[in-house]
Amino acid sequence: MRKTAAVVLWVCWVAVAYGQKADVRPVPHVIIIGVDGLSVEGVTVARTPRLHDLMARGAWTLEARGVMPTLSSPNWASMITGAGPEQHGITSNGVLLQKMVTLPAVCRDEDGMFPTMFEVLRMQRPSSRIAIFHDWPGFADLVEKHAPNVMQHERGADKTTHAAIDYWKENRPELMFVHLDNVDHTGHEYSWGSREYNKAVADADGYIGQFIDMLKDLDALDSTFVLVTSDHGGKGREHGKNSLQEIQIPWILMGPGVVQGKVAASVYTFDTAATVAWIFDINAPDCWIGRPIVSAFTAAATTAHNQERHDAQGNCGPQRMFTGAIAWGLPQPGEDALAHPPANAGK
Ligand SMILES: [Zn+2]
Repeated sequence: MRKTAAVVLWVCWVAVAYGQKADVRPVPHVIIIGVDGLSVEGVTVARTPRLHDLMARGAWTLEARGVMPTLSSPNWASMITGAGPEQHGITSNGVLLQKMVTLPAVCRDEDGMFPTMFEVLRMQRPSSRIAIFHDWPGFADLVEKHAPNVMQHERGADKTTHAAIDYWKENRPELMFVHLDNVDHTGHEYSWGSREYNKAVADADGYIGQFIDMLKDLDALDSTFVLVTSDHGGKGREHGKNSLQEIQIPWILMGPGVVQGKVAASVYTFDTAATVAWIFDINAPDCWIGRPIVSAFTAAATTAHNQERHDAQGNCGPQRMFTGAIAWGLPQPGEDALAHPPANAGK
């Protein structure tokens, strides 16, 4: 036993010593571009050279899945909260968050909301710059108001793209989320798969290309992860039901240490938040169900990441040992969906 303890201590010491040298690792940057209503067919059929360039450089799947129902709010919420409607309770679109929540969230943060990746990053890396630019005003209802440094609604994908790019150039946020709505609008007007829809997808491809060009110009491609995904596809002029055309979504990741090629693992939309947490090396709340898509990263990147976590903990504990230190509140007895946000929110 004594010999085992000595070995463990030695391993810890080596890990800590290594960690001191490894402290210089730059903080990564992550840009997530969420194209509302971008279907898998849209990626493959429409003219999407920039998306295909991303796929050639990074890890991707066109068989990722959203959640049921295939509406926007439940799916955006799942993507940014690392959980499904069963956990965060958002099961429909609505004008107000209270109208969308039909189940009480299984855990809550200070704002009485199921914790998003923005809040988790804010809590664990308080100095992080976090930005959200959204084409659909309803997106803001899904995010804790104080978590991002900026959460800005712009009308139209073009204005949203320009505002986000201007902000990134000026501020270099660690985490930026961009929501583009032109594809979904066109799907509802002309139907998914129509000529007009495919043109809208091609336009979105151009907006995505503007972000890549910006990173290239700023020599920031090597330190920035770019993830392109969507909330749902569509069928006819609708989405919300249970077909593959509606629930399958693209998931395309490019960045330092990302492998090239199709991701073999199953990818669910709630894995996005977990993957972001993994990239930033922050702990996911226990109430999240998503897991990082580790197979999207090279063995070297994964080993370096595990080593850094090991070093940070110092005592060789399990990876999620700090999770309990984050005080995500549990709903109190008697609270129901209407208590979200909680009754003391006005204090
Ligand atoms: Zn949508």
